[in-house]
Amino acid sequence: MIEKKTAVKADRLNAVKGMNDILPPDSAQWEWFEQHVRELMGVYAYRNIRTPIVEYTPLFVKGTGDTTDIVEKEMYSFEDRLNGEQLTLRPENTPGVVRAAIEHNLTYDGGKRLFYMGPMFRHERPQRGRYRQFYQLGAEALGFSGPEVDAELILVAWQLLQRLGLCNVRVEINSLGVSAERQVHRAALIAYFEQHADLLDADAQRRLHTNPLRILDTKNPVMQEMVAGAPQLLHYLGEASLKHFEMVKTLLTACGVIWSVNPRQVRGLDYYSHTVFEFITDELGAQGTLCGGGRYDGLFETLGGKPTPAVGWGMGIERVLELVKVQTGVVAALSPDVYAIIPDVGALPVALTALQTLRSQGISVQMHAAMADGMGSMKSQFKRADSSGARFALVFGPDELSKNEVAVKSLRDGSGAQVTRPLDAVLEWAATLQSGT
Ligand code: ATP
Ligand code: MG
Repeated sequence: MIEKKTAVKADRLNAVKGMNDILPPDSAQWEWFEQHVRELMGVYAYRNIRTPIVEYTPLFVKGTGDTTDIVEKEMYSFEDRLNGEQLTLRPENTPGVVRAAIEHNLTYDGGKRLFYMGPMFRHERPQRGRYRQFYQLGAEALGFSGPEVDAELILVAWQLLQRLGLCNVRVEINSLGVSAERQVHRAALIAYFEQHADLLDADAQRRLHTNPLRILDTKNPVMQEMVAGAPQLLHYLGEASLKHFEMVKTLLTACGVIWSVNPRQVRGLDYYSHTVFEFITDELGAQGTLCGGGRYDGLFETLGGKPTPAVGWGMGIERVLELVKVQTGVVAALSPDVYAIIPDVGALPVALTALQTLRSQGISVQMHAAMADGMGSMKSQFKRADSSGARFALVFGPDELSKNEVAVKSLRDGSGAQVTRPLDAVLEWAATLQSGT
């Protein structure tokens, strides 16, 4: 039974459906993204947190919410064969971060600003921008209650997309107020939907009394008009909630973020209150939400911790990199500075010593190495040097070596110019091989 479902072609195993290999040169794009993230998080004084990929299932049932899509249908859950524990591959990381914060009493001396990057797992129908293993960058600010941190977090995501050179990304914000306000709105919402019961699809009917707010999130075209006329939560917010929301808007405007209010934005997760937000592009088809987040003041208590205000977001890295490709077409180059041509294996000890010295000076060196058919001819080695994209070939030929020298041939400027350099003074000429010199 299980074997039947495994993706086996003859005797070859493939990757699990919806789970991707990230290969060079694409992986360079990921490193480029991660580099920007680290720099930016440093600038905003957010610190890195790394939590396990596997957590106890109830963390998500309670934390993410048992009426969410994630918990209802998307989790990879299993029983530990050895002790029967119920475990889940994390579908998102906010509950994990909050669990860790409670477990280690992270906020004992004040608020903490944290970020993470890593794989998440959701059993969805794979398509462009929607995978079963996907990567999220997340930022969470724990222990802060004011609207300035909501604004700061939105600003971090905004700045990151700017740094990556992206444009035409909408920032939509909304406020979900506090629980008491949502209760009153909920009653009005249920009453409204009951009046239009004939238009509710099966999903909406099921949610009517468990999570009616989520019905606002429906993608069913038949329900759009009816849903557009539903009572808006914003109209049910009290003075304090409105003040919080107004301040977020003021600060965003002051910092140059272009935003709009989407009164129907509810987010897919149960734990949000006050500010919620999404970053959306129209250039990636149906999977246009790059980043989503909001305030989750109740989550610490839900997970057994002390009441602790918090706010955060998650960003889909595949979607962001796809947009980079669509908008800027930038593909990171992965060329070494130097390709080392070694016609005879006897030259290997001398060549490797010289290459080590070059590398110690930060020169990126790709060494020719034997393939199934041996080291290959000079001609085939030069071919590989060319296709590596290196600016220079270093030729450890017998003539040069007999003079304790190496030939340096220019590959990229069309001149084919060649000089010889002494092998006992590598440090003196290493810098001439540096990219950009
Ligand atoms: P969607 O409505 O697209 O399913 P979501 O509301 O489920 O998104 P969140 O749980 O808020 O998404 O996750 C934050 C971000 O992670 C999303 O905005 C998206 O960029 C990314 N993301 C979510 N699910 C996937 C997936 N299956 N594959 C790739 N990226 C994803
Ligand atoms: Mg989803």
